[in-house]
Amino acid sequence: MSNIVAIVGRPNVGKSTLFNRLTESRQAIVDESSGVTRDRHYGLVDWNGRQFTLIDTGGYIKGSDDIFEDEIRKQVIIAIEEADLIIFVVDVTLGITDLDQQVANVLRRANKKILLVSNKVDNTSRIPDSSVFYGLGISDEIYNVSSVSGSGTGELLDEVVNNLEEKPEENDDDLLRLAIVGRPNVGKSSLLNGLIGVDRNIVTNIAGTTRDAISTRYTAYGFDMKLIDTAGLRKKVKVNEDLEFYSVMRTIRAIENSDVCLLMIEATEGIMTQDMNIFSLILKNKKGLVVLVNKWDLIDKETNTAKEFEAAIRQRMSPFTDVPIIFTSVTNKQRIFKALEEVVKVYENRVKKIPTSKLNEVMLDIITRNPPPAVKGKYIKIKFVSQLPTHTPTFAFYCNLPQYIKEPYKRFLENKLRENFDFTGVPIQLFMRKK
Ligand code: GDP
Ligand code: GDP
Repeated sequence: MSNIVAIVGRPNVGKSTLFNRLTESRQAIVDESSGVTRDRHYGLVDWNGRQFTLIDTGGYIKGSDDIFEDEIRKQVIIAIEEADLIIFVVDVTLGITDLDQQVANVLRRANKKILLVSNKVDNTSRIPDSSVFYGLGISDEIYNVSSVSGSGTGELLDEVVNNLEEKPEENDDDLLRLAIVGRPNVGKSSLLNGLIGVDRNIVTNIAGTTRDAISTRYTAYGFDMKLIDTAGLRKKVKVNEDLEFYSVMRTIRAIENSDVCLLMIEATEGIMTQDMNIFSLILKNKKGLVVLVNKWDLIDKETNTAKEFEAAIRQRMSPFTDVPIIFTSVTNKQRIFKALEEVVKVYENRVKKIPTSKLNEVMLDIITRNPPPAVKGKYIKIKFVSQLPTHTPTFAFYCNLPQYIKEPYKRFLENKLRENFDFTGVPIQLFMRKK
């Protein structure tokens, strides 16, 4: 499970440049294939095997100059409440400005770890200029960074992961944890209310720690699960409800706390960039997924409407297309239980362990008939397959030359695993290991 790290600071200090620098890696490529390119203000960072979600608060600031200060203040307050760690960026070329001071005033009262980053330190001669920032009273440690060249970012990332807790990966009990996520207005609260509003006796509120999302135990109609609240779902917090930034933070938290996510999209609008961003986050966190196309009642339907819709969605989600897609009308109570049944199936797929003997019997046979292509005259022999005892389905293929097995063959193996063992709705991981 990862943690949330928020980048805060006034405009133009280089927050988004730093964000891009820290999240770049392979991710950009992955995102491109799933149609996520621009408008991305949050992403998963992997540093020495530790993961965290990084969010650029600046990306969510809108409005004219006069409301700027107020907006920034709000974002910082939310970042303090919602994030596990804060990166406060200042600009060495300008020293301390009024706005920096104001951000610092809010941060100083917070009981959160703050890393102070002096950005635009493009050469060592600027390092002494950073000492002015001790005056902010935030930290006696300053990270000198050049987001443009990347210098200093390694030390910063080391410090970030050193300060993050190793959160326990999974649940304290064995209940399925379901997060209902999606853009504003897709029908999340209607769904939640439809489920738990019917009969208060079938729900128990489970108080989470402040870091956990609040969840509600739902036991009815044969289901027993925890519904993770994307806060603002049931009781909408007035001051925060309009802030996209706030809902994004809660969404990230809910995804992280879940086993399976119900991603709701609007039938009338189809799949949009924001939907894809959430989709990609679910995927990167390796959570189970069921897609609901809601408000299906508003669509004029012809024979193939649903099929075409489904095809369009799968195309956007490619290559992760092995996902249930259900057409619902929450307000008409159509196919809601069908959706929950799919959720349960996906959960079972995610926790299932394939016996090693069965796995080898099936996969080695397939591999023998379709071996990986030889590289530089060397034959690659996969000798053994096992599912690792991890929380999400992960398979190790033991072979003589693991480095020569390329993406297309790995995809082939993944497809064969899916065909033979049913991992619908679940991201799976493959590792090639030396044996
Ligand atoms: P934000 O408003 O805080 O997100 O700031 P941006 O990331 O948009 O950066 C503002 C300006 O500062 C841009 O012109 C960047 O190219 C520039 N910038 C960002 N980081 C650095 C850096 O490390 N060195 C230099 N010289 N310029 C930078
Ligand atoms: P949230 O912001 O995702 O929690 O969305 P809400 O549950 O507040 O729903 C937003 C609006 O869409 C409300 O007016 C709902 O009544 C409406 N709505 C939700 N589900 C459906 C549906 O299946 N069909 C139709 N026609 N309207 C819906």
